[in-house]
Amino acid sequence: MINVKEVEFDEWDCTGEDDAVCPYCGHNNEIILDGEREGEQVETECESCEKTFMYGFKTSVTYDTQPVENYYLEERKRILNRIDRYEIDNEPYTWQKELVKQSNQDLALLDEWMESLIEN
Ligand SMILES: [Zn+2]
Repeated sequence: MINVKEVEFDEWDCTGEDDAVCPYCGHNNEIILDGEREGEQVETECESCEKTFMYGFKTSVTYDTQPVENYYLEERKRILNRIDRYEIDNEPYTWQKELVKQSNQDLALLDEWMESLIEN
């Protein structure tokens, strides 16, 4: 076995929000993720001391909420705008007709959904 000794480092300092802190020199390295998976350990080189270190990352989840009425109205407006856009031509292409048809179905489903909420 290769003779490798465990390195003491400050785990707390090496947990950060934006950058990957080099465990050797403390430099904040900006990481640009490129297909790396959450939970995997990735090898990188410190921009400052040029030592190789490993980083992993977690993505965090943020929630936003809104009243269901507002969502319904916004969504309705969005679908109607879409229908307007595809109904501009006097002689629409087949795909435009399809999109209008699909959008009208979406609209019907949305209305149905909202009605079921109001009833309850
Ligand atoms: Zn470093």
